[in-house]
Amino acid sequence: MDRFPLFLDLRERHVLLVGGGEVAARKARLLLAAGAHLRVVAPEVCPELVELCERNAAQQLHVPFDPVHMQGVMLAVAATDDPAVNRAVSAAGRAAHVWVNAVDDAAASSCYMPAIIDRSPIIIAVGTGGASPTLARRLRAQLEGWLPQRLGSLAKFAARMRPSVRAALPGDLARRQFWDRFFESALAARVLAGSAADGEIDADFAADLAAAQLPASAMRGAVWLIGAGPGDPDLLTLRAQQLLQQCDVVLYDRLVPEAVLERVRRDALRIFVGKRPGEHRTTQARINELLLEYAGRGLRVARLKGGDPLVFGRGGEEIAALARAGVPLIVVPGVTAAFGAAAAAAIPLTHRGLAQSVCFVTAMGEAAAALDWRALAAPLQTVVFYMGVAQLPRIVERLLAHGAPQSRPAAVIERATQPGQRVVAGDLANIAVRVAAAGIAAPALLMVGDVAQFAAGGRSPDPLEAATPVPGPAPQELEC
Ligand code: SAH
Repeated sequence: MDRFPLFLDLRERHVLLVGGGEVAARKARLLLAAGAHLRVVAPEVCPELVELCERNAAQQLHVPFDPVHMQGVMLAVAATDDPAVNRAVSAAGRAAHVWVNAVDDAAASSCYMPAIIDRSPIIIAVGTGGASPTLARRLRAQLEGWLPQRLGSLAKFAARMRPSVRAALPGDLARRQFWDRFFESALAARVLAGSAADGEIDADFAADLAAAQLPASAMRGAVWLIGAGPGDPDLLTLRAQQLLQQCDVVLYDRLVPEAVLERVRRDALRIFVGKRPGEHRTTQARINELLLEYAGRGLRVARLKGGDPLVFGRGGEEIAALARAGVPLIVVPGVTAAFGAAAAAAIPLTHRGLAQSVCFVTAMGEAAAALDWRALAAPLQTVVFYMGVAQLPRIVERLLAHGAPQSRPAAVIERATQPGQRVVAGDLANIAVRVAAAGIAAPALLMVGDVAQFAAGGRSPDPLEAATPVPGPAPQELEC
């Protein structure tokens, strides 16, 4: 974490503002709104700032900045258009152990003013550490559109109800479950809509709280089988994000990177059930047991799997175990690695004249012998091999033995959508050598088929021209 975010209570605190122009006036308005006692230092001050100072009884010193002005303040804002003055404020602040924000000068600042969304008591601050205030403002605009206007009212309502909830539900877990249910309830929606009288909402809330005290209403546990996608957390589905923010426990495996786990609720219990190098994998039977155990305790369990949970993810075994035990289940799809890799390397999985079908295969272990290699070696399709890097020479050998030409394009995508993603392109004659030379490691996917020419570094810039034309669809058919 580059910067540590904090919310300051500025009421009754002295804050120095150096500068007398429009920017200084804007900062003054914010600082005054937060209740600060302002000391404004500038030889010349614009009328707007003078008016603000007079209305709020702020101290005005119409002189050039001097380090002595730092005395007694906890925060200084340098908002002049003279970099030398801003630097002088910064240096004086450092000497006096005062936090300094120099407008538009990250290097001279020891703290940064974020873009804020004010739904007090809820305040959301977006900071870029001075890297790009414009980007922060754009993010703010997006969040503004997403957050209900009366979010503050909802927070205030919850604050008012907390004592009665604490009295009615002594257990931490029961309270958290109650609040989670409340924030998702129609009642919360009414508070947000401002569509009912306070008394009416209070009465309905009391009724819900009374119901939550009855043992029969205790929340049943549930398991959410969630696809984490290929690694970039922005590729999580909205539903995955919402459920990850609500779960009590998360069971995740090796393919789920830390960046995705960051999106899980902070106080959820994290259980790693993957395989670390040199250690044994948690067996599937044990994973099933854990799911049933936590769900049986009334918890909401997120089972987070790389990619899509139902593509080479052993999701089927877990679904069956949960169904046998009667545990409620939600499955949330994820972007499977083949789609992540195709997008990352800009390889179309289907393409007119090059590939009419796509096939996902795993060539791991003994199951490989049972595959229909003649079908996999056939032209006009894209074959995506999961878990295939270690087997790469063997896969290539089998495809060639079953009729695929040496010139069939192939690409390997390592850590698709993640930092350090790499693409190695070639054909069946050279892909194994190129992959070995590049030192490609798991997780990586192998794609075989004419579309692999599209991969960065591929051979033909115009695959359509290189393609053998095939009869198109009947003219009246809809084309995608
Ligand atoms: N359920 C997962 C697949 C699990 S099998 C999904 O739908 O994607 C594990 C294999 O998936 C890995 O061996 C690798 O071949 C592939 N894989 C997963 N994530 C990947 C990534 N980010 N880049 C490339 N391949 C990946």
